[in-house]
Amino acid sequence: MYTLRFLATGARRFIRAMSAATMNRKPEVMFILGSPGAGKGTLCRYIVEHYGYVHLSAGDLLREERVKPGSQYGEFIETHIRNGTIVPVEITCSLIDRAMQTSENPHNRFLIDGFPRNQDNLDGWNKVMADKVLLKGVIFCECSEEVCTQRCLHRGASGSGRSDDNEQSLILRHQTYLKNTLPIIKMYEQQGLVYKVNSMNTPEEVFQDVVAFFPKLGW
Ligand code: UDP
Ligand code: MG
Repeated sequence: MYTLRFLATGARRFIRAMSAATMNRKPEVMFILGSPGAGKGTLCRYIVEHYGYVHLSAGDLLREERVKPGSQYGEFIETHIRNGTIVPVEITCSLIDRAMQTSENPHNRFLIDGFPRNQDNLDGWNKVMADKVLLKGVIFCECSEEVCTQRCLHRGASGSGRSDDNEQSLILRHQTYLKNTLPIIKMYEQQGLVYKVNSMNTPEEVFQDVVAFFPKLGW
């Protein structure tokens, strides 16, 4: 009985996903925001594994662009990353746009991780992307600065290879988060779009919280 119901749910989800793609519906987007090291990427990996949606980390897209041979922005991006400052939206948004357009994922659902991070990001997104997608909501991964810093330092020490997982960059990243990103989250909160999770919990607990929330969005 349970298996049948499980299969039926799976089939329904598949049909919905296929029809979303074939009917050319707007892509659905969920922003994942929170302090550096809060576990945004980890949560996204859990969601991808269980739901098959697409994870686009703005930071990862910038890091890929940075190392592309002949990239005109390589050094410019690296300077921003080390200083924990935010790359101009034209660059980030075009990378996100391209990644969405080249995705053949049948669900047509995207987790955009670590974006928008400041007013410039938000303005640029609103200008070129907002009308092309359906913004379903924002998941806010809330976590203390101490825990986040320890996680990133640990990640740096165990070979993340990230040039910003060091104490100096982390101070700057956290300052940027408080000054620039938190106001964006607050603005979305006022629009009733934010779902908050306690990212001090284990990844599995945070994921289960999201599993309970997704059906409210039809996800
Ligand atoms: N970054 C940016 N714009 C973005 C996302 C990231 O400029 O939309 C840069 C910024 O310098 C940031 C760094 O990339 O500090 C690392 O971002 P990432 O999201 O990978 O870090 P996390 O928050 O996951 O630790
Ligand atoms: Mg990340």
